[in-house]
Amino acid sequence: MLRASSYVIYVDLPGDAEQMLLVHGYSGAYDRVARHVGAYLRSMEVGPRPAPLYGEWASEPGPGPQGALPPPSEDTLLRLRKRGYLTEKTVEEEEEFLARVAGQHHGYMQQRRLTYIVMPTYDCNLRCSYCFQDYMRTNPAFGNLLRAMPQAMIDRMLTAWVKLEERHRVPPGAPRNVTFFGGEPLLAGLRPTIESILRKAGDLGPATFGAVTNGTDLHAYRDLLHPQGLSWLQITLDGPPGEHDKRRIYEDGRGSYEAIAENMTMALDRGVRVAVRLNVDRNNIDQLPELAEEMVSRGWDRYGNFSVYTAPIHANNGKTEMKTTMSSWQLDKAITKLRETFPAMRLIARPDDGMLARAQRLFENHADPLSTFKSSFCGAHNGMYVFDAFGDVYACWERTGNPAIRIASITEAGDIKWEENTDKLWKSRTVASNPTCRKCRYALYCGGGCAVLAMDFRGEFFTNFCDGFASRFRDAVAQAHNGSLSGVGAGAQERESVCGT
Ligand code: SF4
Ligand code: SF4
Repeated sequence: MLRASSYVIYVDLPGDAEQMLLVHGYSGAYDRVARHVGAYLRSMEVGPRPAPLYGEWASEPGPGPQGALPPPSEDTLLRLRKRGYLTEKTVEEEEEFLARVAGQHHGYMQQRRLTYIVMPTYDCNLRCSYCFQDYMRTNPAFGNLLRAMPQAMIDRMLTAWVKLEERHRVPPGAPRNVTFFGGEPLLAGLRPTIESILRKAGDLGPATFGAVTNGTDLHAYRDLLHPQGLSWLQITLDGPPGEHDKRRIYEDGRGSYEAIAENMTMALDRGVRVAVRLNVDRNNIDQLPELAEEMVSRGWDRYGNFSVYTAPIHANNGKTEMKTTMSSWQLDKAITKLRETFPAMRLIARPDDGMLARAQRLFENHADPLSTFKSSFCGAHNGMYVFDAFGDVYACWERTGNPAIRIASITEAGDIKWEENTDKLWKSRTVASNPTCRKCRYALYCGGGCAVLAMDFRGEFFTNFCDGFASRFRDAVAQAHNGSLSGVGAGAQERESVCGT
């Protein structure tokens, strides 16, 4: 029986009463059609319509009266079939097909270049009010976690990298991608450790290095900050100086803004790419215009290597009240509104500017849509390895510091001892293994949401965390189609994950 595919995404085009867009969830097709064609197709959906899931699906365009609308011309019908919008597959057959596409894509992604996250310590010199790792520094029972990675562990880790690359069949000589994370990875006292990793990894083969850092001790790394050394930094600010200094404080309560700002200017002068991350909730959103002005007054907007992006603070750290938080979609809308009044806000990318840039690739360059699919949400499921100072290896940088949840450990000989159950758990979370996501028309564009947030908010690993994805995706596709990329903030990149404090 001919029916509308369960994976058609219907996108309204703002200001266009005549036409709309169809995007197909697994063929990657997109087409502009007359609204009556979209309504006809919607009326050809069979089976239970997807129920609203966690997040914001409320604005999903409503279905037409089932099967009651007149069909379009034969030519149009033929084209709708060819493009996958009309199908003879049953609902179950289509779901199986999507799962196969996701499985193949996931397999392909496992063989791509790996990402190494190196945590040289869990220690940090700040005591941010919302830090998810704070207990490690404030509870003496975790004091043993705060030591630095020993030199011998650096050698073992590098040996393990080569073995991991063999396992993933990474082509020999492929450049490595190394990110330092912590704790605070660029504490002044860690300089010998970082310098040693840069040198030894550089001897092993080509590599790029960057760090997610609080930026307070960067002056100790001045000579290592350059495009061939530590070439990029992600630094967090929590608002203009007054607000930041209430949240990102040293142990003695002093604020950290000025130290970070001076270091940031130094790093920009040295040609390092600096991406400022703004953690935003309802308490500091109104202060973003003041921060944008402050950035302009410091002259950061004149550097081509400077960008700013926003991320919502989630209430999964045991310290943030749910009522103060915003979803990515709410944050996106709030920033769009602020831009109407405050021109300097153009400097600050919205959470979905990255998605907008990705959607635009489809229309502008006729890129292969399959290259934009995501069978899983983030690297934790396909080729990201997080190494700590003790030789424990984790999948996700927000789930570390506890050997009970590691996916592997490095032996003294540099061999990798896998924790097969945990490794399999992380590697197998795809949209196909997630019973809700495999039915979702957005599955291969979304990837299934963050596993940590799914666990923290819904108590299950193999479940969805939508974060308003449906609304956000349709909005991005409509904007990209209408060519409104002029609204994309300076920090727009394909950055859709939520991690990295
Ligand atoms: S926090 Fe979520 S998005 Fe980030 S690495 Fe972990 S699972 Fe992935
Ligand atoms: S694929 Fe994404 S939008 Fe769809 S159900 Fe899963 S988490 Fe939600």
